[in-house]
Amino acid sequence: MGQDETRVPMTGFALRGWCPDAWRPMMAGDGLIVRVKPRLARLTAAEIAVLADLARRFGSGAIDITNRANLQIRGVREQGWQDLLRALVDRGLVDSDAALEGRRNLLVAPGWDRGDDTARIAEELLGRLGELPELPGKMGIAVDAGPVATLLDSPADFRIERAEAGGLLLRLDGRESGVSILPEEATDRLIALAHWFVETGGAAARRASRHTAALPQWARGDGRPAVGAAAPHGYGVPFGRIEGEAMVRLMAATGAAALRVTSWRQLLAESEVREPVEGFVRDPGDPLLRADACPGAPTCPQATVETRELARRLAPHVSGRLHVSGCAKGCARARPSDVVLTGRDGAFDLALRGRAGDPPTRAGLSPDHVLAHFGAS
Ligand code: SF4
Repeated sequence: MGQDETRVPMTGFALRGWCPDAWRPMMAGDGLIVRVKPRLARLTAAEIAVLADLARRFGSGAIDITNRANLQIRGVREQGWQDLLRALVDRGLVDSDAALEGRRNLLVAPGWDRGDDTARIAEELLGRLGELPELPGKMGIAVDAGPVATLLDSPADFRIERAEAGGLLLRLDGRESGVSILPEEATDRLIALAHWFVETGGAAARRASRHTAALPQWARGDGRPAVGAAAPHGYGVPFGRIEGEAMVRLMAATGAAALRVTSWRQLLAESEVREPVEGFVRDPGDPLLRADACPGAPTCPQATVETRELARRLAPHVSGRLHVSGCAKGCARARPSDVVLTGRDGAFDLALRGRAGDPPTRAGLSPDHVLAHFGAS
């Protein structure tokens, strides 16, 4: 599930570039969505137990894993939001400073080890969030300094990643190459690049990939990110939706002290035990792991079509990546997919190798027509 599902901030902040978080939750068809941003993509077993308990007491019990490796407590009742917020702050899951929480948009490669470049740079950045300029709300930073880059497909604007040549790169999203940096200067350089972005009018573009200003000399380079093995496979969560209690079961079954949250909708247990756990997909080849679908109707008021049941039925019949989107906004996936179905006026438009809302090859299909088209009826 993406970042834009709905539009109603609780607290009257400016809407331009607004990105919801626990201090500024957003309203969806099933109640408020309250976002929790795990530090270094990690949650301990105790934190998961707390989250599951809070999700059940204040919301519907369901939790979303977003494509930025955040968690969203679903279905929160308005009158319970402040108590929920207080509980999250007390447990250290949300920053007590709303402004800092708003800036804490760090996507961290989940395979980090204590003391490695990814962990060290991410920890330093977390301590220096106040030095970043005011950035558009949807912008984020990826720290991806493991042996190969694993977040290339995940949304971020400023990227610190492993270079083909073996060192580290600082790269602005949308540019093919980046500048070589030393690990110890990574945070300074990143903060400087963020200031350059704002000073050169980047806020108007709202995302780094749309900001075409020439980079300063010191940020230019021809280093390419190191592409390597596929992202690690853990416990797959179809469409990113899971019951909090299922996460508690996962911890009990694996005996792990903590888990890592990925931006590819899987949870990695910090444990050698590889138990099957009900509610999670363990087969890396399962077609559901190649399918994206936003909540659709009736959960999202923008949607005129049901999405996830259709995606479930269709996924085994589609080769490549499938995206079923409730509307042209495409919250579940910003990148192109092999097959894209976009809801419009109660029917689906079908496009190939594109994004939600792209010009369709076939338009106005009912779900039955879609299933028949792919031989799934
Ligand atoms: S219908 Fe889906 S894509 Fe459209 S706004 Fe809602 S969640 Fe996002």
